[in-house]
Amino acid sequence: MKEKSFKKHIYRYKRYYVFIALTIIALVLPWIRINGNHFFLLNFDHMKVHLFFVKFDMQELYLMPFLLIMLFLGIFFMTTLGGRVWCGWVCPQTIFRVIYRDLIKTKLLHIRKSIQNKQAPDKPGTIGKQVVAILIWTVLALIAGADFIWYFVPPEDFFKYLQNPSEHMVMLGFVLGIAAFLIYDIVRLKEDFCIYVCPYARVQSVMYDEETIQAVYDKARGGQIYKEDERTEVSIGEKLVHNKKELLAMNPDAECTYCEACVRVCPTHIDIREGTQLECINCLECADACTKVMGALGKPSLIEWNSISAVKEHRRPKFLRFRTIAYGVALTIALIALFWMSTTKEYMLLNINRTAELYSFENHGKTVDNAYVMLFQNTENKKHNYYFEVLKEDKTPFKEIYIKRPTKPFPLNAGKKVRKIVVLATDKILAKDSTKDTIIPIIIKAYAVDNPKKIVVYRKTIFAFPRYDYLQKARKQ
Ligand code: SF4
Ligand code: SF4
Repeated sequence: MKEKSFKKHIYRYKRYYVFIALTIIALVLPWIRINGNHFFLLNFDHMKVHLFFVKFDMQELYLMPFLLIMLFLGIFFMTTLGGRVWCGWVCPQTIFRVIYRDLIKTKLLHIRKSIQNKQAPDKPGTIGKQVVAILIWTVLALIAGADFIWYFVPPEDFFKYLQNPSEHMVMLGFVLGIAAFLIYDIVRLKEDFCIYVCPYARVQSVMYDEETIQAVYDKARGGQIYKEDERTEVSIGEKLVHNKKELLAMNPDAECTYCEACVRVCPTHIDIREGTQLECINCLECADACTKVMGALGKPSLIEWNSISAVKEHRRPKFLRFRTIAYGVALTIALIALFWMSTTKEYMLLNINRTAELYSFENHGKTVDNAYVMLFQNTENKKHNYYFEVLKEDKTPFKEIYIKRPTKPFPLNAGKKVRKIVVLATDKILAKDSTKDTIIPIIIKAYAVDNPKKIVVYRKTIFAFPRYDYLQKARKQ
């Protein structure tokens, strides 16, 4: 196969494009703001959450369950459909290892011989270059650490805080801590992180089914290399044949050349011909290696990105099946709910508490007052003047109850909150019950005077009207 057409068939280049696109997105996204809001920001500093360029107060955490549901459903959906597609195509660990091992150590500094052989040790006598590689990676790890923090402390604050590091030691500590972990992880721990540390690696296998796509060796074409349990057809971890000669003696039609290019290239040091393994991160490097070997013989790769059943039956995988449809539907519902919640966002917050006293008489019992403590919060990026109205349960004006205090709209700066003592009053007889006080449900409609259609909230509360005999007594005094 010619080099140009070969490149078209291998996954590595496609993965590189995905890696580049993801890296650019991860680095650029924190810098993009629309109306001062970020795409995603969990800002504990200002107690704000930004989602899809809409800012939410931390008090609006009703969004969080939807985000968590979406996260878990997304993982289930993705794993059932594409196995460890996350690991091979998206995970920062994989991307960082490709940058460090393949780009810096192999291509740039020639410490390693070839990216096709991940089992070979580093070339001897390259200590100086190893130090340079670690230094280059240290710089990149610091950028990665800062980039991660930008989703919690936005760049506009981050660089301001950096000018005063002694006052922002926690932020600085996180950046340095993440960078230090990345240096240890990428330089020392390597793929052992994927095999022994990452919790996703442990749980993903239970989400697999016979149609989950993964790197699969076509045993029927290539020939059986490992001994298997007769009942389950699962490898018992012992080789059946050790070279091409033994393989052909067992099965004259076996196509595997026993070149072991697929074994040499595997970053997790496994032999995919043994079958599905927990260690496989679905990087498809083995499939690429075999594509090259078999391509030279004019044959398709013996290692496919396909489901086990589909490889056995020589067909395409079934993407539409009960599990994937169920996860897909649930994910779509959660996404729509999240989107709907974010569009019905309230642009101000209002908490109402009543004072201990139910009501009081004023003006010799002619007026009945009810007092409240209302907390108004401006969650917008600009200053507004706020006021409110009293409504009945059917949202029509409650004309008999008027606002005694505050008498006029009050200003509130961007992001600020204010506690107001509010007094509602009535001069009318709202009830004539002499057995008990009458509790009248009301609605407070609070709004920004300059934009009452968009910035408005409704809160239910009550107006307590005294027993009629108490009222009469107060009026006689
Ligand atoms: S690269 Fe292909 S031909 Fe070579 S050993 Fe692996 S499966 Fe067999
Ligand atoms: S067997 Fe190794 S090379 Fe092949 S996909 Fe899995 S991790 Fe990658």
